[in-house]
Amino acid sequence: MDGASLQDECAGFVSELRFDVVGAEGPKRYFGSLGKEQLAHAYCFTGPAGIGKKTFARRLAQSVLCLASKRGVLGYDGDCSSCALFGREHTRHPDFLEHTGALRIGDADSPLAFHEAEELSARDLVRQLSLQSYSGGMRVLLLGDVDFATHEAANALLRLLEEPPSGLVMILTTATPGRLLDTIRSRLIDVRFPLLSKRELGEILTGLGYDAKAVKLGVSLGAGSVRRALAALTPREESVRAAVIEWFFTSVAGKSPEESWATRESLSEGLEIVKMLVRDWIVVGFDGNALLCDDQENRLRKLPKLESRAAAALLAKLEDAARLSHTNVMPSVVADFVRMNLTSIR
Ligand SMILES: [Zn+2]
Repeated sequence: MDGASLQDECAGFVSELRFDVVGAEGPKRYFGSLGKEQLAHAYCFTGPAGIGKKTFARRLAQSVLCLASKRGVLGYDGDCSSCALFGREHTRHPDFLEHTGALRIGDADSPLAFHEAEELSARDLVRQLSLQSYSGGMRVLLLGDVDFATHEAANALLRLLEEPPSGLVMILTTATPGRLLDTIRSRLIDVRFPLLSKRELGEILTGLGYDAKAVKLGVSLGAGSVRRALAALTPREESVRAAVIEWFFTSVAGKSPEESWATRESLSEGLEIVKMLVRDWIVVGFDGNALLCDDQENRLRKLPKLESRAAAALLAKLEDAARLSHTNVMPSVVADFVRMNLTSIR
């Protein structure tokens, strides 16, 4: 911290605070009503994938660690020495630990600092969190899209939740809270995030630098999710959506797709896209407009009409697949299950 900003803070200078998150009005109200001392040890941010749960958690962490004097917990000045360590996506703040994806149990002791380790083990986590905070204040741990590679990893987190180090706020985010152990979930305070409204999604895409035409397309194909919108706006050969669309039309034609798109990360999103395509397939059969995937209209119109009984059966199978995707069944197996049902339509 330089001398000037220290003086400012000592003199009680309060900069204007902000909280750069679009949407999430409910969570904003909730955390806006809390003071720092009222924060719980552990929260679970739930809601569909790609709607900004991790972004909110990062901004909340920045708020908690910001040095500006304030009454509530929410908001940061953006120019104190703590805020300077927060970037848009990545942060270098030593008291903010972030990890996305599966936790494993490490078999070797890693000398690497937390944020440098490629794969985070639950043991690293416990070891890291048993140390004192860097600034002597609070610490925030974000486990995004939390998942556990092993039962032991889940148990290690459970132990952390049972006896949380003082001053630590843990935030887990997940689109599939049902996959968390009940013993873990019962120790978390649920904060539910809704899908983004069209206006909110448009505002986010505009903020990311997309032009009006792209924003319109992204809002229409994103259906409330930034991740889905960005996938739709990414050059086709790169995106999950493009892969799923090719896979879908190949499967419906009764041919074997060359490759599967399904991974642990892409499965829910991919199944959602298949569901939209099937809904659109039904809709074009009734000469309807307002397709969810309107860029695929021509190809959908070339498909044989989907009879209502077959449509209902297919939608039921997609629900089964969605349920399977929340279990430990391998993603490629779930995708194959859907493919067989698409292929058998003819
Ligand atoms: Zn600050």
